[in-house]
Amino acid sequence: MNLILLGPPGAGKGTQAKRLEERFGLVQVSTGDMLRAEVRAGTEVGRQAKAIMESGALVPDGIIIAMLAARVAQPDAAGGFILDGFPRTVPQAEALDGMLAEKGLSLDHVIELQVDDAALVRRISGRFTCAGCGEGYHDEFKRPRAEGVCDVCGKGEFTRRADDNAETVGARLDAYHRQTAPLLPYYAAQGKLRAVDGMADMQDVAEGLNRILTQPA
Ligand code: AMP
Repeated sequence: MNLILLGPPGAGKGTQAKRLEERFGLVQVSTGDMLRAEVRAGTEVGRQAKAIMESGALVPDGIIIAMLAARVAQPDAAGGFILDGFPRTVPQAEALDGMLAEKGLSLDHVIELQVDDAALVRRISGRFTCAGCGEGYHDEFKRPRAEGVCDVCGKGEFTRRADDNAETVGARLDAYHRQTAPLLPYYAAQGKLRAVDGMADMQDVAEGLNRILTQPA
C-alpha cells in the first residue's frame, strides 16, 4: 500500500505516519526529515536547502524530486510507503505519478488532514522533540511526565526545529495555501482524495485513518 498524507505544517502528518508505519508495516518517507539530515550532514543538498527551509519557502522541485526518487528506490520502500510532506507542488505530484507508473505501482490513498490555520500556529510554535528517540512533545499539549526527561527513552536532551517559530510559520502556511493546496483538486480529479478531521485528538485522527485504510476499495 502506498499513500500520501497531505495537509499544512503542524497538521499531524509526521505523528500519524509513525503510527501507520507500525500498524501497517509501511515506511514513512518524510522529505522534511531527509532535508534536515542533509543539513546536519553538511552535504551539497543540505547547503542549498538550509536558508530556504529557515525562511519557510519550498526547496526547488528538482532537488526534492531527485531525493525522493532515490529514497523510494530503496528496498525497504518496496513493501509500501507513507509520503509525509511530499508532494508539495503540482510538478512534484506529476513526477511522482510518472515514477510510480514506471515501476508498475500506484497510489492507494491520498488523505488530507484538515486543520485551521489558527490552531496550526499554536501547535507548531510549541513543539519539541527528544534528541535521543525522536518522540514529539509540546509546551502546552504534551509535556514530558517528568520535567526535562523523555517519557520513552529517559534521555534529557530535546531539540526544536529552526523553522518552528512564529515568524516562519506564516511563510510556511502561505506556501501551503499557494503551492500545495492545488494538489487537493489534482487528487480529487483522480478519485483518490479522502479527508480526516485533523482538529480531533490524536487517537481519533488515528482511528479515522485506520478506517479509510482498512475499508474495502
Ligand atoms: P516539513 O518537515 O515537511 O515541514 O518540511 C520542512 C521544510 O523542508 C519545508 O518548509 C520546506 O522548506 C522543505 N521541504 C520539505 N518537503 C518539501 C517538498 N516536498 N518540497 C519543497 N520543500 C520541501
